[in-house]
Amino acid sequence: MSGARAKKIAVVAGDGIGPEVVKSALAVLDAAGADFEKVPLEVGLGRWKKTGQAMSDEDLETIKQCDCVLLGAITTPPDPNYRSVLLRIRKELDLYANIRPFHSFKLDFIIVRENTEGLYSGIEEVGEEESRTLRVITRRGSERIAAAACDLAAKRKKLTIVHKSNVLRSDRLFLKTCQKVAADRKVPAEDMLVDAVAYNLVINPGRFDVLVTSNLFGDILSDEAAGVIGSLGLCASANIGEGHALFEPIHGSAPDIAGKGIANPIGAIRSAAMMIEWLGEPETARRIEGAVEQTLLRGIATPDLGKSYKTADVTQAVIANLAKK
Ligand code: ATP
Repeated sequence: MSGARAKKIAVVAGDGIGPEVVKSALAVLDAAGADFEKVPLEVGLGRWKKTGQAMSDEDLETIKQCDCVLLGAITTPPDPNYRSVLLRIRKELDLYANIRPFHSFKLDFIIVRENTEGLYSGIEEVGEEESRTLRVITRRGSERIAAAACDLAAKRKKLTIVHKSNVLRSDRLFLKTCQKVAADRKVPAEDMLVDAVAYNLVINPGRFDVLVTSNLFGDILSDEAAGVIGSLGLCASANIGEGHALFEPIHGSAPDIAGKGIANPIGAIRSAAMMIEWLGEPETARRIEGAVEQTLLRGIATPDLGKSYKTADVTQAVIANLAKK
């Protein structure tokens, strides 16, 4: 990368196990020789306890000035008026495509989740007797998420459009738009009701390749898919917009195991690999993914996968495997 400016990465370690798994991911990136400048930011519950604010406007400005963000996990502050920091970052940077790959020795599929609208529109009326949340589906939002999914499916096998258009009329627009984008791009596509997808993910997950869906369905199906793969701790994600991106493991801050040194760091390490690929170093990303697979093959894993290794052991094993050809 001689001559080029080092890429700037905002590092939001966050709360709970966030700092533990981000530390592992950064150690693996360093060992892989990834060249970037880190900009650490304190955002989340820890910050909220000190200042009453989980993230300031200046933090958001700093994030905008970096090339991308590597995030651990954020615990939601116990305040009924709190608005999610993560949702704010996704909205402000317009990170519309949430790409969630699920890999295991037997399975390999990707959930592409629309990240800015649907039931997470933030348009809500909250009352004592009645509360409403508006589910927003737009043609533009559906077109661009379908295009992102088709870019992936075109290099693989097929697209499954996941919806509930038999009940939700807003999903007719989502389905029709996705079908048109897939047809225009000549990507083989099928569609399936979200409840059937939930069932098939358990019964026959190998039938899926790339799935595209709206915000809430994607959120829920991702946790189900993580269970099918074996653990939330294995799974990575990218939140991609036009020229900006945020990478994070799909798990939360897991307060039940925080500070014990047993968090599975693989989801965070894989997120770092996705980040490095997005930053233009696909070879480094492939090396990291290969080292992760070797580590798992040898059974070096944390208690969530039934083993008794620590976060630091798994991290060191991934680093040792990086050095091997
Ligand atoms: P949040 O509200 O932040 O999403 P949560 O506790 O609802 O938090 P997770 O933090 O994702 O959700 O945790 C769900 C369960 O999965 C917990 O029992 C947690 O310990 C476990 N878990 C999540 N991530 C990991 C990980 N990296 N390694 C081991 N176990 C994990």
